[in-house]
Amino acid sequence: MNTNEYIALEEQYGAHNYHPLDVVIEKGEGVWVTDVEGKRYLDCLAAYSALNQGHCHPKIMEAFLTQAKKVTLTSRAFRNDKLPLLYKMLHDITGYEMALPMNSGAEAVETAIKAARKWGYTVKHIPEDKAEIICATDNFHGRTTTIVGFSTEEQYRKDFGPFTPGFRIVTYGDIESLKAAITPNTAAFLVEPIQGEAGIIVPPEGYLREAARLCKENNVLLVCDEIQSGLGRSGKLFAFEYDNIRPDMVIIGKALGGGFYPVSAVLSNRDILGVFKPGEHGSTFGGNPLAAAVAIAALTVLVDEHLVERSFELGNYFMTRLRAIKDAHIREVRGRGLWIGFVLDVKARPYCVALMKEGILCKETHENVIRFAPPLVITKGEIDWVCERIEQVVHSIH
Ligand SMILES: *Cc1c(COP(=O)(O)O)cnc(C)c1O
Repeated sequence: MNTNEYIALEEQYGAHNYHPLDVVIEKGEGVWVTDVEGKRYLDCLAAYSALNQGHCHPKIMEAFLTQAKKVTLTSRAFRNDKLPLLYKMLHDITGYEMALPMNSGAEAVETAIKAARKWGYTVKHIPEDKAEIICATDNFHGRTTTIVGFSTEEQYRKDFGPFTPGFRIVTYGDIESLKAAITPNTAAFLVEPIQGEAGIIVPPEGYLREAARLCKENNVLLVCDEIQSGLGRSGKLFAFEYDNIRPDMVIIGKALGGGFYPVSAVLSNRDILGVFKPGEHGSTFGGNPLAAAVAIAALTVLVDEHLVERSFELGNYFMTRLRAIKDAHIREVRGRGLWIGFVLDVKARPYCVALMKEGILCKETHENVIRFAPPLVITKGEIDWVCERIEQVVHSIH
């Protein structure tokens, strides 16, 4: 079958909840993918940062295959010999005392919400059913009905109500707005240290630091959603490190599965995650041995290949090169690490289509922003290769 035949099948039989670029990928290796016509592309999206370690990393693959031949699923009704090792590794790498494993990012966000509420009632003594969680404008935390209920994006919410109550919205980056929203019933402030889906929005200097201080002062949990920003994407292990803070809870996902398998987790200390008692929360697949083996390998690769440091250094290089491109339609180049928003004053989609023809895969976010977020294993030479093509496309498109 060729590209058009695959697309026709997909359009006919699949729900149309995405608008993908018309490239049908058959193979991936490192930063490169190959389509069904045999054409190669450099992947500058990396599955929204789920592929920080690159496509089909051999070490993660080995862990995946080895575990797949032994045992893949036990359920948490029984214990398995891989999950404790993942717990220990998460503790050693992040310093948090405990983790609670889930599968998708949205599930981990839901888990953090439940933990924060339960902590609010049982530790902070908020009156029954009165707990509030504060979220930011332009947030993205996933697609469940509770989560889209506190989105400020009309398209994510429209016709999906009624929604879960108990959430308040404050302006992202505005500390006064947060201060005004905190009440004695506030259990948590849930925030992305850098907003990815909103277009790689880096908040003003010191915002998170101030937010952490306010939360502490008011006995409110600071919950950072690091599902996209975490595990090296921002040039640090966690983006909150730029503000020298330590959130009460951290949510991770995406690259934790090394591109092989959905793995997510909530990280926190005993005084918070300890609120869950047996039977109060769970997941059939969460913490399964295949997921744990893959996550251990994914984290090992992250550390052994110094991907966090690479992201920091190569991100700066990439951004410097992009800023050197002069064109009337470029409004801004922003980001941290290998997580770059290329902001135009026109629609970004035609640029993505033109870049695809040049062998670069990327995706627009919010009409006029192109996100460049390649796997962290990208080389300097490959960044040069990408930048030459971006420059060509930017100059030739009008
Ligand atoms: C992707 C993402 C999620 C949701 O993760 P899924 O695995 O798609 O459910 C949540 N928060 C942030 C910041 C994300 O980027």
